Amino acid sequence: MTTMPELATCLTTDLVAITRGRSFPVGALEGYLARGTGWVPANMALTPFDIIAEDNPWGSAGDLRLLPDPATRLRLEGIGASPLHFFLSDIATLDGKPWECCPRSLLKRALQTLQQETGFSLLSSFEHEFQILGADWPAAPAFSLAAMRRADPFGPRLLALMEQAGLEPEMFLPEYGQDQFEVTLRPADPLTAADRAVALRLLVQELAAERGWRASFAPKTAPDGVGNGVHIHLSLRDAGGRPAMRDETRPGALSEAAGRFCAGIVRHMPALLALTAPSPISYLRLQPHHWSAAYACLGERNREAGLRICPVVTMPGADPAKQMNVEFRATDATANPYLALAGLVLAGLSGLREGLAQPPLVNSDPSELPEAELASLNVRRLPADLPAALAAFEADPLLTAALPENLRKCLLAVKRKEMALVEGLSPEDLCARYRAVY
Ligand code: GLU
Ligand code: MG
Repeated sequence: MTTMPELATCLTTDLVAITRGRSFPVGALEGYLARGTGWVPANMALTPFDIIAEDNPWGSAGDLRLLPDPATRLRLEGIGASPLHFFLSDIATLDGKPWECCPRSLLKRALQTLQQETGFSLLSSFEHEFQILGADWPAAPAFSLAAMRRADPFGPRLLALMEQAGLEPEMFLPEYGQDQFEVTLRPADPLTAADRAVALRLLVQELAAERGWRASFAPKTAPDGVGNGVHIHLSLRDAGGRPAMRDETRPGALSEAAGRFCAGIVRHMPALLALTAPSPISYLRLQPHHWSAAYACLGERNREAGLRICPVVTMPGADPAKQMNVEFRATDATANPYLALAGLVLAGLSGLREGLAQPPLVNSDPSELPEAELASLNVRRLPADLPAALAAFEADPLLTAALPENLRKCLLAVKRKEMALVEGLSPEDLCARYRAVY
């Protein structure tokens, strides 16, 4: 009997947030760690439906390397038929330099710019919602213990594996939607947070498959169902690594710097959607009364605001300054986590750079406020579909300049191709297409 070699994989996450890569026998790890595996530039032009957008900048030309980051190594036994062993990778040119269009490298550059220009760094965490499809179990009420127990041992097993993989899980909870769950993780430096978002999605999908289910992170799996959101939490740290978000004397208890950072995000929010809610189906979720985000505004504990100041616990023993963070709600799992985060960092940085004033706090559902009040609070409805979001992006000099020209061209080509591939589908069919992929 021949023995199976264990495979390890170099992975990268592309513009449509699909994680792809190449595997090698683990015995050859040393060479691959040093020089990576091959990769192809036009892979970046894949749509979610595995059809390449033809008008991408590279066509059949060029070669790249997937350079594994040893810090991201994940190896778990007992899941699937062989150990799950992978590295998240940067895309590099053949001489080992970062490829200008690598989303992970782009996030690193954005974080460096923030630190160099302002001295600030960030902590971040991605909160994911997903639904289990295909489980043969009785209905259970939203948020209930029964909803969690009938999935057993999915929850405890997921958290144990995440812990083992160093993903620092916080909670597993049943959500409001049908067969919907949420997983939260401890805050970490933003690159690690984005890496963990990728790893979490892969783990959840593997674990669901183990039980014969499918886990779907699609923004909507049914037109009239509850959306699956990805909420990105952000918290500024000063040059000494101390919490820099909170000032109880100011509106919303946001420090002056945090207010400016939030102002940058709110100003660029319509254009940011091209990076954070970048698929046609994203806009079935981003509607009023979905607790997702239909408006560009800052709210204090308001789940209809695009950017929400999260609650802090003030009981004895709790440190409000340390907990203070804001949550960007207009993201979903069709967004590349590195690009979404890079966009948020650069938008926030622009607010700091220009000394923007903190936006007014919008503490009730904007869709229920009269037009005049929305105008006086400077609240804008977010783009209602992907073409509008792409137009806002193309009209935004900060964000267009943030992406190298080839990446920008590729993003627009991929998104236009993706729209053409699903054009004319009913909301039901759109959901079916996306839940089969995400
Ligand atoms: N499911 C909502 C969304 O699509 C979020 C609900 C919540 O606040 O957790 O973003
Ligand atoms: Mg939730």
